[in-house]
Amino acid sequence: MSEPATERADNDSTPLLEVRDLIVHHGQLRALDRVSLRVFPGEVYAIIGANGAGKSTLLRTIAGLHRPTDGAILYDGKDMTKVRPERRATGGIVMVPEGRRLFGSLTVEENLKVGATYARKGPWTIERVYEIFAWMKDRRTQRTAQLSGGEQQSVAIGRALVANPRVLLLDELSLGLAPVIVQRIYAMLPQILSTGLTVLLVEQDVSQALRVASHIQCLLEGHTTLEGRPSEVTAEQVEAAYFGLSPAAAEGSEALWHGSTPSSRAS
Ligand code: ATP
Repeated sequence: MSEPATERADNDSTPLLEVRDLIVHHGQLRALDRVSLRVFPGEVYAIIGANGAGKSTLLRTIAGLHRPTDGAILYDGKDMTKVRPERRATGGIVMVPEGRRLFGSLTVEENLKVGATYARKGPWTIERVYEIFAWMKDRRTQRTAQLSGGEQQSVAIGRALVANPRVLLLDELSLGLAPVIVQRIYAMLPQILSTGLTVLLVEQDVSQALRVASHIQCLLEGHTTLEGRPSEVTAEQVEAAYFGLSPAAAEGSEALWHGSTPSSRAS
């Protein structure tokens, strides 16, 4: 497997984002069951897992859109668990949501201006976004509803960037896009990371996640089944973690195997 863009920091340095034993319910359903992670500055941390594994719930809870039943979210060492979503965003935790959620009747530039409304100070401006997405400036007056899925995804990323995040949460960038478009969008990551950003992404496209991440975690029915560096895990281990197969596949690995399929998600 290819080397990650950024090496993971030493374990004794402070994570920029930390999730501790997070439990989140949707009604009676325990969507996340004691999920923990530590994301270090400058890294790309990928959450993988099948449909319904709890990936979006995790990202949305970090953004403040779901209230956890238990557990903690720390950002730069400070407890953010009860902080309102707007304050998390203005503090530097910014999400590109699943399905883009652009304002379709607004133009490309108007959508970018929405993202810049409560922006932190930082390197990202609308002009800078036009530099990395070369097609965008010429089409800045076009309504986003008229754009292709890949173009819309790029505008959604640009809208998040102009807020000048420290941690960028990317939810399923590849959803509904052709593989070649997905690769083109992920090709932007090095430029984004070079401005000092840290990325936590959710991705169903496992090979894409393994290509770009410095650390991965696999969720299955709300539980962590595997975590480690892409270079520490084999394709068989990832497959076993993804589908809940025998943990024997993880033997001899430096990655952490967290167990087999949970029998029930009811609380
Ligand atoms: P997908 O790739 O399909 O989006 P996911 O791994 O992101 O899957 P989640 O969307 O977090 O998974 O969903 C986890 C579980 O929680 C699923 O069983 C889903 O049906 C349920 N769920 C998610 N959001 C809600 C909600 N708002 N109300 C009720 N149940 C929900």
